[in-house]
Amino acid sequence: MQSKLPHIGTSIFTVMSQLAVKHNAINLGQGFPDFPMSAELIECVNQAMKDGGNQYAHSNGVPVLREALAEKIHYLYNSQINPETEITITPGGTYALYTAFTTIIQPGDEVIIFEPAYDSYIPNIIINGGVVVPIALNFPNYTIPWDKVKAAITPKTKAILVNTPHNPTGTVMSPEDVLVLQEIVLSNNLYLISDEVYEHLIYDDKPHETVLKYPALYKRTFIIYSFGKTYHCTGWKLGYCIAPEHLSKEFRKVHQFNVFSCDTPKQLGIANYMRNKEAYLTLGNFYQSKRDYLRSLLKDTPLTPIPSSGSYFESYSYASISNESDKLFAEKLVTDYGIATIPMSAFYHDGTDHKVIRLCFAKENKTLEAAAACLQKINL
Ligand code: PMP
Ligand code: GLN
Repeated sequence: MQSKLPHIGTSIFTVMSQLAVKHNAINLGQGFPDFPMSAELIECVNQAMKDGGNQYAHSNGVPVLREALAEKIHYLYNSQINPETEITITPGGTYALYTAFTTIIQPGDEVIIFEPAYDSYIPNIIINGGVVVPIALNFPNYTIPWDKVKAAITPKTKAILVNTPHNPTGTVMSPEDVLVLQEIVLSNNLYLISDEVYEHLIYDDKPHETVLKYPALYKRTFIIYSFGKTYHCTGWKLGYCIAPEHLSKEFRKVHQFNVFSCDTPKQLGIANYMRNKEAYLTLGNFYQSKRDYLRSLLKDTPLTPIPSSGSYFESYSYASISNESDKLFAEKLVTDYGIATIPMSAFYHDGTDHKVIRLCFAKENKTLEAAAACLQKINL
């Protein structure tokens, strides 16, 4: 059979997690919390099952969940979203991204992405017959080089993908960034996919610059979300896409013949639990203290943080102690020091290697302490 993705291998998250299991290593690689999710939310889902919410949901998502999301968006961003026509519940953010790409890409269309990039973007574009136009973020602060973006626009450019807060670097877009982005998108009639799965994981009093605050830009945008990040349940694989009616209509055509509908009890349970605003309003402080705790634990190691302002990741440079490739370095950390991380080069199409690894701090403090104890022993 001819492969549709001949140059794509196994996801780095799978590779590093498997390696962690094999060597019984602490896993600060793949991004997921190691602490329990809310028992109350589990109870809400149990209750929904007991109440008989066990058949197919509406293809666009159960109405009470879409209504709860519209209310939340109004409360947080003062933005009016129609739950009937603009919100579609999906089996996770990754699926929502794939569906958005499939909705807009025609063969030969160019899509601009920024690297380092979350690993599903490139295969999603390729499998839909699109052409990836990767632009490297400035190193080491990982800001967006807007002059390069403007220079990369061609008559074939169809879309841009942005991600704020950003995985893997933890950078967040400023209002100035979004204004430039808006100008580029609107003046070139592009579409935007805005990956905002870490909307609540944002630190140092920075506001989340969601596209929802920019009505003209929103008209050309698919915004991607994940309940997994917000409610500490990455294994539930539930998320949603918000897009204006004309875009949601096309998105839903793809969606209805792919998964059709998502897990009913979880949607009902989350809709009920969402009344508890504290659950998402406290997330920023909760994760900021974990970021700071890990940073303080690693102060006496040869690793230098490249500051993160969002997501549950922070990058660390090891350039002061080693010249070896980040893949080799990360492998050694697992086999010799008992700790799994992610080598940053995995997020570049050409393997750009700045001697940086990504650490996930969504962990119990005792896990972070154990990880730091491993990293303190680094002696290459
Ligand atoms: N986008 C980014 C930037 C992510 O880090 C993730 C988490 N894996 C996703 C999308 C996908 O979220 P989900 O787990 O809901 O598919
Ligand atoms: N979002 C997570 C990360 O970046 C994991 C995603 C996955 O395993 N596919 O680590």
